[in-house]
Amino acid sequence: MAEKPARKIPERRCTGCGGHFPKNTLVRIVRSPDGNIALDPTGRAAGRGAYLCRSAACLKKARKSGRLAQNLDTPIPDVLYERLEGELRDSKP
Ligand SMILES: [Zn+2]
Repeated sequence: MAEKPARKIPERRCTGCGGHFPKNTLVRIVRSPDGNIALDPTGRAAGRGAYLCRSAACLKKARKSGRLAQNLDTPIPDVLYERLEGELRDSKP
C-alpha cells in the first residue's frame, strides 16, 4: 500500500463553524498593531489574526456568536463586517 507523502499544511480553526481546515483554504483576518482590521490575503501581516472559511455563512456565524470579535480581542463595527463580507465574496476564485 503506497502512502501519500505527508504534506505539512498547518491547520487552523475557523472562527465561524469551528472546524479545522488547512490554513491555505482559510482566510485570515488581522487586527494590525494600530488597530485596523482587514483581510490578510498573504496570511503574514503583523498583528492578531483569526481564521475563517471563505464563506459568507461562516462570517455570519462568527459575527452572530461574537467569536470573531473575541478572537481579535476588539469590538467589530457592523460596517466592517459588511466590508469583510464584500471582500470575502471578491476573494472567491
Ligand atoms: Zn467555517
